[in-house]
Amino acid sequence: MTIAAAALLLIALGASARWTWWRASKPGLKVLCYHKVGVPPPGSRLKDLWVSPRKFRSQVKYLLDNGYATLTFSDLRKAHETGADLPEKSVLITFDDGYENNYSIAWPILKELGAKGNIFVVFNTIGKANLWHSPASEPWVNMATLEQLREMQESGVIEFGSHTMSHPRLSSLEPENAAWELAESKRQLEAALGREMFAFAYPYGDGAYAPAVREKALETGYLFDFSFTQGKTPWPWDRKAGPLDRLFIRGRDNNWDLALQLSRGASRL
Ligand SMILES: [Zn+2]
Repeated sequence: MTIAAAALLLIALGASARWTWWRASKPGLKVLCYHKVGVPPPGSRLKDLWVSPRKFRSQVKYLLDNGYATLTFSDLRKAHETGADLPEKSVLITFDDGYENNYSIAWPILKELGAKGNIFVVFNTIGKANLWHSPASEPWVNMATLEQLREMQESGVIEFGSHTMSHPRLSSLEPENAAWELAESKRQLEAALGREMFAFAYPYGDGAYAPAVREKALETGYLFDFSFTQGKTPWPWDRKAGPLDRLFIRGRDNNWDLALQLSRGASRL
């Protein structure tokens, strides 16, 4: 073996130990999960939850250039209710929590490129900050205001779902408090935005796989419940089988990671 061939082999082995390209691609609903689009502030320990504006734009462009349709919750609802298959190249772009940078950075990019997105909002922090984090580990940043949420909704580019009132770990609450977080956020968001809220994401993914919590979420009237578990969910979806899993886009991910996430359900080991 020449030195060049040996070097290539080493690179291939290295890549196989880190990325999943050698896995078989598998079908299922593709739901991308973002949090913040922007540059992490000093002191952030959750840097992977920040995707730079440049990367975000490049990822949305990758989706569109590769023929993906970007769906809203309403699109998903239509397909679910009619039992229709979704095109293989369809994807939901979701954002958790409702940060102001979703309004100031992500929304203009989606609008400009012609893509759609969906945001899970924590009702009690609208126009405030990510108060559920200890500022020692993750600095507080602004959440979108109600006016900003309304403006995004009216553009037809963004739809909303609930992410509870205060971002608790639902399974550690008393059952009646968990039920209140689920129902009150749905009621308040519907009153504030004038639309039915039929999509829900569990904060921290907590409760998504706890039967008592999940049962309560579905009973509350949410049609779709989204976990914080990496993966794709078979579609058409059997609602009884479990929540909808997601594909986490990390700050360090590149477009190759995105391609692997979409096809393999994960990019790195
Ligand atoms: Zn969250």
